[in-house]
Amino acid sequence: MRSNYVDLHCHLDLYPDFVSAVQDAERAGVYTLTVTTTPKAWPRNREVTEKTHYVRAALGLHPQLVGERADEIPLWDQYLPEARYIGEVGIDAGPRYYRSLDIQKEVFQHVLQKCAINRNKILSVHSVRSAKVVLDLIEHHLPPTAGMVVLHWFTGSVAEAHRAIDLGCYFSVNSEMMLNEKGRRIIATMPDDRILTETDGPFTKVNERAARPSDIGRTVEAIAGLRKSSIEEVELDIARNFKTLLEIRSIDGN
Ligand code: MN
Repeated sequence: MRSNYVDLHCHLDLYPDFVSAVQDAERAGVYTLTVTTTPKAWPRNREVTEKTHYVRAALGLHPQLVGERADEIPLWDQYLPEARYIGEVGIDAGPRYYRSLDIQKEVFQHVLQKCAINRNKILSVHSVRSAKVVLDLIEHHLPPTAGMVVLHWFTGSVAEAHRAIDLGCYFSVNSEMMLNEKGRRIIATMPDDRILTETDGPFTKVNERAARPSDIGRTVEAIAGLRKSSIEEVELDIARNFKTLLEIRSIDGN
C-alpha cells in the first residue's frame, strides 16, 4: 500500500514560479496545504488550486504582517466562507514583532471566533514565543468541537505541548525542528495520533535550495529515526492523522 505524503504548511505562492511549484506537488502526489500571508493573495491561490487533486490553499493573515496589515481583516472576513483551510494565522512574540503583539492577539482572537461561528475550519497556526497565549486563546475561542488546530513549527515547552494535546491540537513537524535538542524532545513527546508533516518551504532548505512538498519523504525518515519507529509506521500514522483531521466535523455544524 502506498501511503500518500502530507505537507501541511508550505508557501507555494512565495516560490519564483507559483504555478510550477503547485504542479510539482501534484506530480509528486503530496497532499499539500499552501498557506498565504495576506487575504489579498486568496483569489489567486483559490484559482490556482481549484482543479488540483493534492493541493489546497489556506486563507491567511500572517502574524508578522498584522502590524502593517490589520486593515485587511474585513477582506479576510469576506473570503472566510469560501475557505475550509485557514493559515497562516497566529501570534509571533519574537523581538521583531513584539511591538504589534496587542493587535496580533486581537486579530488572532477574531480569527478564532469567526472560525468557531463558521465551523469545520482547519487552521495552521504560528506560535513563536507565544505558545501560552496562543493556547489560552484557542481554549477560550475555538474548542475542538468547533474547528481543528494544527500547530505549525511548534517551539513551546514540553508542558505546553501536553496542554496543546489536551486541547485537541495537532502538530505539523518540519526537518529544521530536528536540528536542536529542544525540537527533538518535543517531537519525541508527540502522540502517534497527533503528528503531521510540513516543509514550511521556502523558509526551510534542502541542499541550499528552498524545500518543496516533494522533499517531505526526508522529514518522514527523520521522524522515524527520532521516534525509533519504522518509516512505514510513521507514513501510516501521518496518512491516518491527515484523514482523521479532514473527516472531523463539528458536533452541531453541518
Ligand atoms: Mn510559514
